[in-house]
Amino acid sequence: KVRVRFAPSPTGGLHLGGVRTALFNYLYARHYGGDFILRIEDTDQTRFVSGAEDYINECLAWCGLTPDESPNKPGKFGPYRQSERKDSYREYAEQLVNGGFAYYAFDTAEELDARRKEEPNFRYSHENRLQLRNSLSLSKEQTAKLLSEGHPYTIRIKMPVEETVSFEDMIRGRVAFETSLVDDKVLLKADGMPTYHLAVVVDDKAMEISHVFRGEEWLPSAPVHVLLWEYLGWKDKMPYWAHLPLILKPDGNGKLSKRDGDRLGFPVYAMNWTDQKSDETTKGFREMGFLPEAFINMLAVLGWNDGTEQEIFSKEELVSKFSVDRIGKAGAKFDFEKAKWFNHEWIKKTSNTAILPKVEEVLNRHGIASHRTEYVLKVLALVKERMTFVEDFWEQASFFFIMPERYDVDAVKPKWNENKTAFFQDIAREFVTLPIWKADSLEPFFKDRIVEAGMKIGELMMPFRIMLVGGKFGPEVFQIAEILGRDEVVKRMERSLP
Ligand code: GLU
Repeated sequence: KVRVRFAPSPTGGLHLGGVRTALFNYLYARHYGGDFILRIEDTDQTRFVSGAEDYINECLAWCGLTPDESPNKPGKFGPYRQSERKDSYREYAEQLVNGGFAYYAFDTAEELDARRKEEPNFRYSHENRLQLRNSLSLSKEQTAKLLSEGHPYTIRIKMPVEETVSFEDMIRGRVAFETSLVDDKVLLKADGMPTYHLAVVVDDKAMEISHVFRGEEWLPSAPVHVLLWEYLGWKDKMPYWAHLPLILKPDGNGKLSKRDGDRLGFPVYAMNWTDQKSDETTKGFREMGFLPEAFINMLAVLGWNDGTEQEIFSKEELVSKFSVDRIGKAGAKFDFEKAKWFNHEWIKKTSNTAILPKVEEVLNRHGIASHRTEYVLKVLALVKERMTFVEDFWEQASFFFIMPERYDVDAVKPKWNENKTAFFQDIAREFVTLPIWKADSLEPFFKDRIVEAGMKIGELMMPFRIMLVGGKFGPEVFQIAEILGRDEVVKRMERSLP
């Protein structure tokens, strides 16, 4: 059975890369009718940030990536927080020591720091492990003594020398590593907590994970994980791995970092994230006005495509079309303009009634308390094409809700003369008794009157628009007139005339 997991560490807000990892896991699970699991990897107490787990839950909910099993919805493989599984890791670490695959290391953090100062490239490895203080360099008795005295220790993997470790990555094909180049990673820390390396293997096994989609930054650690699966005697249970391509800065120059957003003026977090220490809030896609459908669509095509030119996919389509062979190996450039295009397309695609509540929020925020739903829906239908964010509704349509305060008379009325004033006065009077008030009858009526009056259509259309809208923008003017309604149109015309 396909069982995948999203395994974030609760160290802060989720950025683009994190959500994309969640999404690919989710799509794979749904495509194969498998399970999507959320596991919180909180074994690094020093990086733990309270509030981060809630953020992760809220973010997955917003994106519609609901886990089948999670800390809040435990299945039979719980607990789903690694800190609550603490006791399960030590036995495996000890099993590795007993098998000769790992060893106790007694060097204190201070000793290692001092060493690093002397030797900036210091790595705890086969090159120097016999000069350091551990159960490989010490006698059995010395080791036993330190352990019984309660001397703090870590357990490290003993990386083999000059061996090649390889595995089949679902995206990259066979990848091979030279073991001598990998250091002896800590597996169990002095505080009794496992490191990521041990915990990820023990938990993926315990939770019967079949496939792992994770960021490319974990590729260098993969040989350690392959060896652990082997050393623990679980090699045949090892999941298939897919290391997802990096998300690159817009110019393609390196990995997109959390700081790039502020620097380049776009969000990198899924939702607003407030740093506890500095109290600074970093803007998120949600608060910027992205629809979740657009956000996940945009993320899905950062590194994946369906082999055609299609770019707009609903979540259901992504589920049915997702396939690992169409994930690229090369990094994918993040382009904020393109992200906005996705939102624009999704606004157009989403039904007016579905967007209505968000539009009403925008209206409320601008002090427009209540309006007939039918009216708002008509306005929305008219201006939707012009919106990138729901918030743009106000810029595009505020004149439907408040009468424009000012008119740029000179801009509208170059060569104004009394004939024009008379024309508008007359037509305003005729509007009052017009039998049908519809854009497609208003237009010929208005234009015929201009011709009859011996004037130029081009010279009167813009003034008419400005009387209704207050500026030279907006959708088709007769559509505007129809929705505003006869009384309002006449009122605005009379107010604008000298
Ligand atoms: N806890 C790791 C992270 O935060 C998870 C990596 C993995 O999926 O194995 O990125």
